[in-house]
Amino acid sequence: MIIEVIKADITTIKADAIVNAANSSLLGGGGVDGAIHRKGGKAILQACVAIRNKQGKCKTGNAVITTAGNLPAKYVIHTVGPVWNGESKKNNALLADCYRNSLTLAIENDVKVIAFPNISTGIYHFPKDKAADIAITTINNFAEKEKIEKVIFVCFDDENYLLYEEKLNRINQ
Ligand code: ADP
Repeated sequence: MIIEVIKADITTIKADAIVNAANSSLLGGGGVDGAIHRKGGKAILQACVAIRNKQGKCKTGNAVITTAGNLPAKYVIHTVGPVWNGESKKNNALLADCYRNSLTLAIENDVKVIAFPNISTGIYHFPKDKAADIAITTINNFAEKEKIEKVIFVCFDDENYLLYEEKLNRINQ
C-alpha cells in the first residue's frame, strides 16, 4: 500500500473513493461535508437520506458509502469523526475507528485508491498533530492493508500538509 500526501480540495480528486468528514445526521454540514454535497449534487444527499431511512443516524466512528454523484471519484465514504472535548482515550479510539471502518467499507466495495481528508480537525477541533498520528498509525497497522493500493491524505491547510509530510518522511527514512 502506497501512502501519499497532497494539498488539495478533495472534491477534485479522482480516486475510487473519497472520504467525507460527515456529521451523524448524514444530511450535510459545513467544511469538507458542505463542499462534497455542493459539488457532488443531489444524488449524494438522496443516497444519504435513503441510508438514514434504513438505519437512522450514523454513529461516531462508523462509516457508510454512497455514490459520488458529479464528483470525479466513484464513491463517497461518509464517516463521523469525534468532536474534540479534551484528551480522552475514547476520542482517540473513535478517530481510529473512522479510518478503520472507512478502509473496511472500501475493501468491501473493491476500492483500490482512497483519499482521506483530515477528519475531525476542522469544525470538530481535534488537535491536528494528534489526529495525524492516529490517522497514519491506524492506516499503517490496518490488518488488510495489502488489499488497498493507495491511500491519499488530502490536506486542505498548510499546517496539516506539513505535519503529514514530516511524519510520513520520518516513517519512510
Ligand atoms: P470536522 O467536522 O470533522 O472537523 P471539517 O470539514 O470541518 O470536518 O474539517 C475536516 C478537515 O477537512 C479540516 O482539516 C479542513 O481544513 C478540511 N477541509 C475543508 N474543506 C475541504 C476540502 N474541500 N477538501 C479537503 N479538505 C477540506
